Amino acid sequence: MAEIEEQQIIEVLKGVIDPDTGEDIVSAGMVAGVQLKDGHVAFAIEVDPARGGQLEPLRKEAEQTVYNLPGVLTATVVLTAERASVQAQAAPSQQQGHALSGQPGRPSESQAQSAQMIPGCKSIIAVASGKGGVGKSTTATNLALGLAATGKRVGLMDADIYGPSMPRMMGITGQPVSDDGKTLRPMENYGIKVMSIGFLVDEDTPMIWRGPMVQSALEQMMRDVNWGELDVLVVDMPPGTGDAQLTMAQRVPLTGAVIVSTPQDIALLDARKGLNMFRKVDVPVFGIIENMSYFTCPHCGARSEIFAHGGAKAEADRLGCDFLGEIPLDIEIRTTSDGGHPITVSQPDGVHANTYTFIAETVWGKIEQTLAARETDTPRIVIQ
Ligand code: ADP
Repeated sequence: MAEIEEQQIIEVLKGVIDPDTGEDIVSAGMVAGVQLKDGHVAFAIEVDPARGGQLEPLRKEAEQTVYNLPGVLTATVVLTAERASVQAQAAPSQQQGHALSGQPGRPSESQAQSAQMIPGCKSIIAVASGKGGVGKSTTATNLALGLAATGKRVGLMDADIYGPSMPRMMGITGQPVSDDGKTLRPMENYGIKVMSIGFLVDEDTPMIWRGPMVQSALEQMMRDVNWGELDVLVVDMPPGTGDAQLTMAQRVPLTGAVIVSTPQDIALLDARKGLNMFRKVDVPVFGIIENMSYFTCPHCGARSEIFAHGGAKAEADRLGCDFLGEIPLDIEIRTTSDGGHPITVSQPDGVHANTYTFIAETVWGKIEQTLAARETDTPRIVIQ
């Protein structure tokens, strides 16, 4: 079947009429952020927040219209209020009580200013991957818990705003509260502080994030959350190496990055893209972690190398970056992380917890090295 194209979607949406103005939603400039992937279509209709409540039939009509196109498997349409935070006073939204709304917010600050966003935080590391589903969030969670196991004060920020999984993986329910009406208190479990957009938005709510919104949500998750004193904030990045990720790598004052890859993903060069992205913005890459590296049979203990095992090490060598370790494909890693009891805390003396903690120690060593190098690089002003 032919791939659906954005132009076909735009064409068909010209038939959807805004009942208040009589104009079609395309000519009225209301269609935004069209995203297409393998027959899945998502976009936003920008509306005045005051009309939001009445336009559900329009949203449904647009969704159905696109869904009816041949080649479309799913269509997701959301109503968004352009510059919602500016207009929020006029039309309070559901989440207005929160400092963190996920909507376009205050203007961006320069990178120098953003370094001041979390004054009590010594270092920030990104956990990234070339694509989704490689176990990036699982690794970020266990790495954060491994760092905590070695006595570090750790925060975990879920920047994977397209599919926030930290509430589930960290076994946290409920919503963060604000003590002072300005900043949110992060949620906490297993001794680490956690913030995720998933605490604020229903898991089933489709979210369309455009560049400025992504940036703003991220900045707010750092600045408007009372993180307190942290040795390290682990940031679970959105998968991929597109513009949104690049912007994030630029905007977050990162000490370094860790790339998570499966062996086959390395073969497809996705990991290399991740590496290049961080290098482009001068963020040191601490190394690659190979996830789902091999499979140990739970019955006989035999080790099977399902996807050409060892690719990450070879690729890391080729690219001149470190290989941080390998994590097997193991049912216990999956069930514990999906069940909200990550293996590093649920089986702290087990072999997998040891591996994660070992990797965490290596990463911490690299954080210290980087911070020390920065210190010596800082020009000193001598007044005579
Ligand atoms: P990503 O963040 O890259 O999208 P996730 O961390 O959400 O990936 O992992 C995707 C799925 O794979 C989850 O169900 C998770 O439990 C599982 N998973 C991740 N790493 C492993 C592993 N080493 N062994 C078994 N299952 C894993």
